[in-house]
Amino acid sequence: MTGRLAGKNAIVTGAAGGIGLETCILFAKEGASVLMTDISEPALEKAVTKLKELVPEVVKVETAKCDVSNEKSVAAVVESLDSWGGVDVMFNNAGIMHADDADAIETPEKIWDLTMNINVKGVWYGSKHAIISLRKHKKTKGSIINTASVVALVGSATPQLAYTASKGAVMALTRELAIVHAREGFRFNALCPAPLNTPLLQDWLGDDQPKRLRREIHFPTGRFGEAIELAHAVVFLASDESSFVNAQDFVVDGGMTRAYVTPE
Ligand code: NAD
Repeated sequence: MTGRLAGKNAIVTGAAGGIGLETCILFAKEGASVLMTDISEPALEKAVTKLKELVPEVVKVETAKCDVSNEKSVAAVVESLDSWGGVDVMFNNAGIMHADDADAIETPEKIWDLTMNINVKGVWYGSKHAIISLRKHKKTKGSIINTASVVALVGSATPQLAYTASKGAVMALTRELAIVHAREGFRFNALCPAPLNTPLLQDWLGDDQPKRLRREIHFPTGRFGEAIELAHAVVFLASDESSFVNAQDFVVDGGMTRAYVTPE
């Protein structure tokens, strides 16, 4: 099979969600072999069925349950790719934004810890085991993409302190990993999405119109982003087309973090 990712083995965490599934679909279309992982098995089943319908020509696609906050679980899925020849692309995408995440006063400690365990430790474990696999299989190049957020670049007026702190950590650790492993050919970039039309945000916003409008107003386009618009960026970062793109905060936000927008 030809394609921009032909011959590459990719793992995606949070593969049943908005960005994760759209990315798996594009990875498959571009010729990658894809291991879709998520904490939710039923959601994974639905997701892989959709992928196979949309991309019947997929080279190889498998699913595996993985809780990214559990190192053994992450190690097991990465090691399972040994039989494929090891991992080439690791998309550490799984993340949560908890409904009880709030400001400095109101955020419960258990929500802080849960958020850090999934959003930060999950990315650490995914990066760590990808490096181990790349070395084991004597690869001279690899691409690790870690999902941060624009909230790590600009302060959010509506607080979600644990989430914001977790994404700042993702950005910092990704940058350092990129520098440490650059001479091995392993690239690390942090994807920074703006608020999107995916369940993660839309469930949290619900019917709360003031909360919704407070976000929409910041977009020069007046709209949230779509998961597919992030997936296209991930394909680029995963492919050899981005071979000189390393250690970046890769912002895909419709211009939001560059804008000075006021209500009409
Ligand atoms: P989503 O909620 O649609 O999907 C997230 C997926 O992660 C779900 O399938 C969920 O089951 C899975 N997941 C949750 N906990 C997990 C765990 N412990 N281990 C493995 N999988 C787990 O979210 P999305 O919008 O596609 O977000 C993907 C990433 O993008 C997240 O890291 C999120 O923080 C980030 N992000 C999203 C937005 C947005 O507005 N949606 C904005 C900026 C950044």
